[in-house]
Amino acid sequence: MLFDTHCHLDDGSFPEGADAVLARARGAGVGAFACIGVGSLEHARGAVALAERCPDVVATAGIHPHDATSADPALEAELALLASHPRVVAVGEVGLDYHYDHSPRAVQQGVFARAIALARRVKKPLVIHTRSAPEDTLSILEAEGARDVGGIIHCFSEDRAFAERALALGFYISFSGILTFKNARSVHEVAAWAPEDRLLVETDSPYLAPVPLRGKKCEPAYVVHTLARLAELRGADRDRIAEATSDNAARIFRLALGAGGLEVAGP
Ligand SMILES: [Zn+2]
Ligand SMILES: [Zn+2]
Repeated sequence: MLFDTHCHLDDGSFPEGADAVLARARGAGVGAFACIGVGSLEHARGAVALAERCPDVVATAGIHPHDATSADPALEAELALLASHPRVVAVGEVGLDYHYDHSPRAVQQGVFARAIALARRVKKPLVIHTRSAPEDTLSILEAEGARDVGGIIHCFSEDRAFAERALALGFYISFSGILTFKNARSVHEVAAWAPEDRLLVETDSPYLAPVPLRGKKCEPAYVVHTLARLAELRGADRDRIAEATSDNAARIFRLALGAGGLEVAGP
């Protein structure tokens, strides 16, 4: 069984509806999904509604750094309510994106710090998006006490030094389709080296389809290719890495992997 720890399944990306996408993934052996609720309050509520309806789906809620300028006290209060929902297993994705700079950096930093405070309040882990901002991401996580809740560095694209500091904060490392790209050498190195009990896989659907499907619209079924590359880089058996990454996802999201789906185990 595979756990796609990060997918976006809104109607804008998948006009055929999330159910069809999920059915294809289940057919490929993917049995658990974390649906990321960012972009707007409607998107976050959509992710939560999907998680209420599907026993193998859980949700997150947060303000993506791209949207940091949309944050105001009213939105943050609504998200805080959603974050307390039992099917919401993490606050995120939140963080810093200095590559696109869609929101001013100081605004991104403030929203990020408040998201960490929210995660600590609701005692749930964080899902971190970081791009071209390694030092600020790590220093804000360290300064704001993210260690108390831990979390996931999603779509890992940094280097070993970054990974070491994230691991020291109790974070897990989630690999996306980037792991299958030939020139992602520092990511390969981390994948080969990181402790087995901190590894995760994700698709970041609809983005970043893995090789051999690169360039297509990504969907959760494709996580099998990322898993295969992770096992290959570690010289490990594929089934073993599948089991380890699913167990790790259940641990960080505080879930029990039951026959009836994903049961919230509580803090
Ligand atoms: Zn992201
Ligand atoms: Zn994402």
